[in-house]
Amino acid sequence: MTRLKRCRICKKEGYIYLRHANLPLCKEHFISRVHFVVQDTIKKYEMFSKKEKILVAVSGGKDSLALWHILKELGYDTEGFHIDLGLGEFSNVSKQISENFAEKHGIKLNIFSLEKELGSSMENIIEKSYEKPCSLCGTVKRHLMNKIAYEMGHKVIATGHNLDDEASRLLGNILSWQEEYLYRQYPVLPEEEVLVRKVKPLVFLSRKELLMYCKANEIEYADMSCPYSKGARSLVLLDVIEKIEERYPATKIRFVRGFYKLRERFKPSQYVELHKCPGCGIPTASEKELCRFCRIKERVKRDVLAS
Ligand code: SF4
Ligand code: ZN
Ligand code: ZN
Repeated sequence: MTRLKRCRICKKEGYIYLRHANLPLCKEHFISRVHFVVQDTIKKYEMFSKKEKILVAVSGGKDSLALWHILKELGYDTEGFHIDLGLGEFSNVSKQISENFAEKHGIKLNIFSLEKELGSSMENIIEKSYEKPCSLCGTVKRHLMNKIAYEMGHKVIATGHNLDDEASRLLGNILSWQEEYLYRQYPVLPEEEVLVRKVKPLVFLSRKELLMYCKANEIEYADMSCPYSKGARSLVLLDVIEKIEERYPATKIRFVRGFYKLRERFKPSQYVELHKCPGCGIPTASEKELCRFCRIKERVKRDVLAS
């Protein structure tokens, strides 16, 4: 094993080498850097202030727990929420770890169960559908996240999307030229009527940095994959991005930063006309009147009545 170079700032033993910045850092200076990057992102994109309460979407994985920890360390007023998707052992472990974190740090965690909210577990919904698992699950999670925050009276939801997520999603949107999706890929999406503000304070930190942040702070996280993640397109894109980064360090951050600067150019010339979903009131482009979430809900209801 090659020994890490000494910290560029204090010359103490190195904890991490940030290849994209050619920067070796000790544990202490690495933690300070992570805090600085997140604080700077919050300020630059005017995500929220210290006067607001931030609802953190906690999955139990390293990104969302690191986010919660960082926001707490930076002195923000936070509350967590976790959706128990009902994906067997994966969901049980994720929920338990989220609860442990909240208890250890004395912060409030609200737990919601998909079974209670929708009348069925995600496992059941996926098994009875021909649609792609992550597409179904993503629709349900996004909808519930917004609904929960809105009903609780919160103005802002923070999620743990990291640099790798952003870079791979951007690549995916470009590969299929999803104009509307491209424009909506931004660190902050403002509130609009029933839609709560969504922010991603970790967009300039990589998976590796967040993993090392969790280790440095002894944050226990769910280190297991969802049983339905196998073969997901997002994993293929993540792999591609990682391979390019290995060969050409700093590609990810340049790709994402560069896009945010150019984003206005992708503003759709013509917006799709939206209308309020008669089921839940959320704006939808769906021509079939009910939004996709409400259609899934209807399907679940029919299944329950038929069984
Ligand atoms: Fe849902 Fe797909 Fe994530 Fe599993 S991998 S939790 S199915 S989005
Ligand atoms: Zn140092
Ligand atoms: Zn709806």
